[in-house]
Amino acid sequence: MERRKFTQSLTTSIAGISLARGIGPHPLCNSKNKLGIALVGLGNYASRQLAPALLETHMCELKGIVTGTPSKIDQWKKTYDLEDHQIYNYDNFDSIANNDKIDIVYVVLPNNMHKEYTLRAFQAGKHVICEKPLAMNAQEAAEMVAAGKKANRQLFVGYRLHYEPHHREAIRLCQTEAFGKIKFFEGGFGFRIGNPNQWRLKKEYGGGALMDVGIYVIQGARYTIGQEPIAVSAREFKTDAVKFKEVDELITWQMEFPKGVVANCTTTFSASTNHLYVASEKGFIRVSPAYGYSGIGGHTRKYKFDFPQVNQQALHMDGISNTLMNAVPDLNVCGEEGLRDMKIIDAIFKSVKQVGKRVLI
Ligand code: NAD
Repeated sequence: MERRKFTQSLTTSIAGISLARGIGPHPLCNSKNKLGIALVGLGNYASRQLAPALLETHMCELKGIVTGTPSKIDQWKKTYDLEDHQIYNYDNFDSIANNDKIDIVYVVLPNNMHKEYTLRAFQAGKHVICEKPLAMNAQEAAEMVAAGKKANRQLFVGYRLHYEPHHREAIRLCQTEAFGKIKFFEGGFGFRIGNPNQWRLKKEYGGGALMDVGIYVIQGARYTIGQEPIAVSAREFKTDAVKFKEVDELITWQMEFPKGVVANCTTTFSASTNHLYVASEKGFIRVSPAYGYSGIGGHTRKYKFDFPQVNQQALHMDGISNTLMNAVPDLNVCGEEGLRDMKIIDAIFKSVKQVGKRVLI
């Protein structure tokens, strides 16, 4: 099936679930066919992935941008058919409250700015999608979740793989115990980082491999095993103490799940690793590569599973829009889910500081 049709059918089936459950439509649904999204921060992820994806979405569209770089504006206006009143900067951002065409603010800024812009967006009466990691730590993430509740608006996190078919199939195989009970998990996500001056290598911005990509391994372990870890032990290693002076280069950690199931995980900024492996009593499930924007592949002991490559970001934003328009809860990408991962990340850093000591979560 070609990508657009597949995206459409998945979106339709997501919407179908709400009808089957008899949940009534959200008021937004009566007034609009598509929700309006404003992207805050027009860096790599917003410009190369999210904005192009918004040309493929069925339930949401780009209705505003927030940038501190005026030289970017003309190109964005041309490419995405935007007008002056849809362009904001960081100073006048709060006036987005007066723009009723914008329903969702999507925060795509460095990690240390996630909390501030999420809180300001809630104050402006908008729903929020905030990129991963949700915040700098669990304390901040909890404040963001609480602010959403107080404003009666929803918080989502940018976990783009929950609608990706290979990951959905891996979850299904695990949930149905297709190969028996899960015994252990192995996973890794890392890449060789370039520019030594970028914010990802700075502590004050919330840099480091674990916050950037290791979080996907935490997610992968949690959604395949289907339980919450009870303890972690972690070690950090460096091969380049200059480049990684401020942040973690490589962390390996072990998460203990109830009933003795264990996850061995690695994240790194100095080499490539990209896989998810679940070993069960009677077979295995492997997604490899697992975490990229495309090229995802699925394998089991008996067969391969190859689904069409999809636009992950388009499905993710359509899934969230469906949640809002049709009142279909999606617990996988909600703020609380981001908060759970921040608690685990805090515990991993605590264990690293104590050279691998077991830390309860
Ligand atoms: P980036 O550096 O390319 O973009 C950051 C943007 O923030 C830039 O436009 C920059 O101008 C702007 N900005 C505003 N104030 C700034 C300040 N004080 N310092 C630095 N930049 C400032 O980063 P990115 O790769 O687009 O990442 C942005 C967010 O998206 C991060 O939270 C990252 O973790 C997340 N992300 C998620 C995925 C994913 O797969 N879900 C992939 C990439 C990035």
